[in-house]
Amino acid sequence: MSDPIDVAAETPGDGLPPLREVIATHGLDARRSLGQNFLFDLNLTGRIARAGGEIDQGTVIEIGPGPGGLTRALLGAGARRVIAIERDSRCRGVLAEIAAVWPSRLETIEGDALDIDVAALGEAPRRVIANLPYNVATPLLIGWLRHASAFERFVLMFQKEVVDRLAARPGTKDYGRLSVITQWLCEVRPLFDVNPRAFTPPPKVVSTVVRIDPRPQPLAPARMETLERVTAAAFGQRRKMLRASLKALGDAEALCAAAGLDPTARAETIPVEGFAALARAVDAAGSV
Ligand code: SAM
Repeated sequence: MSDPIDVAAETPGDGLPPLREVIATHGLDARRSLGQNFLFDLNLTGRIARAGGEIDQGTVIEIGPGPGGLTRALLGAGARRVIAIERDSRCRGVLAEIAAVWPSRLETIEGDALDIDVAALGEAPRRVIANLPYNVATPLLIGWLRHASAFERFVLMFQKEVVDRLAARPGTKDYGRLSVITQWLCEVRPLFDVNPRAFTPPPKVVSTVVRIDPRPQPLAPARMETLERVTAAAFGQRRKMLRASLKALGDAEALCAAAGLDPTARAETIPVEGFAALARAVDAAGSV
């Protein structure tokens, strides 16, 4: 038996109809190809919006507003300006209705977020707050991290397994390239898990909301491009010792010595600062 619907929890106080009604009126049946799993629970959308911090300043960028549940929570929580990027043109009408209730506070861009320079949108401080489409969530984050200093904060919903990788510490099975690059640039704080039943339709996996705050400076000096090459080599063969896995980058033993690392260690035990030291050694050797 499905859970009873808590109508009070799904009726925002903005005068617009409840989300289930919006979906029915606008014919927004969820499409798997667009990663559409909609959130109707206002407690959850409100929690995500509040995790954004001081959203009454600067710009909130939302990826994939869909029928607008989180968008309405953001505006209701006092967001000064929301720029929402949605690929599905069926959402145009519903987003226009929301914009009419919040004059000059919601701008919608119809398009693929992967093609848009999000780091240049609106005024700083920029916060990206989104229930991401899972099929493009990791490439989106990697693209934004290349311009990490343009952002104040990310509050993002991912599959739980992705957040486990983002936040993983050395010596754990989830620790890998994504952990190193993200933690080098940002502080990562998993906030809370969301049960699949909170979505319509429910996804197959548990989701997690994570807060990612770009650091004023990366954790240690390095060039991102070199760090990406070093982590690709090291974790590409994660069971091998560094002296074997780093061969593609040059004299692996010499690189480890220059970085102060044990050449018999494996990638999964090396802290972020160790990879930054390796990237500096690679650049100093001029071998990339
Ligand atoms: N924000 C809504 C919510 O929380 O109920 C919908 C979230 S749903 C998980 C993901 C949304 O992203 C969908 O509305 C989908 O159409 C949109 N989307 C999918 N791929 C996209 C892309 N490449 N660029 C922009 N939006 C995309």
